Amino acid sequence: EATIHLSVRVARLGTRYLLLLADDRTEAHRLEEVRRDFIANISHELKTPIGAISLLAEALEPAADDPEQVRKFARRMETEAVRLGRITREIIELSRLQAADVLTGAERVAVDHIVAAAIDQNHVQVSARRVTIVSGGDPGAEVYGDEGLLILALHNLIANAVQYSAEGTRIGVGVHLTEGIVEIAVTDQGVGIAEEDLGRVFERFFRVDQARSRNTGGTGLGLSIVKHVIENHGGDLRVWSQPSHGSTFTIRLPEASHAATASLGEQR
Ligand code: ADP
Repeated sequence: EATIHLSVRVARLGTRYLLLLADDRTEAHRLEEVRRDFIANISHELKTPIGAISLLAEALEPAADDPEQVRKFARRMETEAVRLGRITREIIELSRLQAADVLTGAERVAVDHIVAAAIDQNHVQVSARRVTIVSGGDPGAEVYGDEGLLILALHNLIANAVQYSAEGTRIGVGVHLTEGIVEIAVTDQGVGIAEEDLGRVFERFFRVDQARSRNTGGTGLGLSIVKHVIENHGGDLRVWSQPSHGSTFTIRLPEASHAATASLGEQR
């Protein structure tokens, strides 16, 4: 059995009409592969913590007489359950972002407010890792969009900057306004990303160091979520990085007064 994917377009050429038939098989095939990969990845990501929880549960009974062991297994079960919860939440968030109507509640949002809220949401990790966050730049910029999603996107970038930084280093969150575009840059002095991995960090489930990221609770979904949120707002996300020196992730969004009529792509 074979399926043929054809798209039909009608073009006008002077007084004549042309019927254009295009073979959409390649695009349909690519989308199908992306979907299949995503599902395979989800299954893999969910199986790991579920498997760990089952094994730990099995190990609990024989260890019943040893309270120290029981405590240890229980703690590890909790860590895995928290991780499972986080992956599930992020997958749901990502699916929601892929739906078209996420911006129904869009409004003018003050960038200073987004920055302050996203920094505030990271304060526990910031003090745990003893890093300092310095924010500044052009005050008063406004963008048009969903406040909660924009805070989530910036929160993810700051959380990564904290996660991949060494103790005692600084993280900068700078806002710059140029020609109708608001740039929010998050700069860290952390481990950085090798050139060959730079193009892949926005892919779902991609982690430079699987083991390290997994141990620290990373899911590999954070940056895909940021990218979706920003692109849904007509903006883009860029990364600059140098291994051992640090990284800068820059969100660019149309300023509120320009947002209603154009996305960044159209302004360039
Ligand atoms: P994770 O949940 O693993 O952090 P992300 O999608 O947020 O997933 O990031 C994907 C990968 O990109 C991370 O595993 C990490 O290897 C790399 N990465 C992201 N942000 C930074 C950063 N600020 N510095 C160094 N590496 C980073």
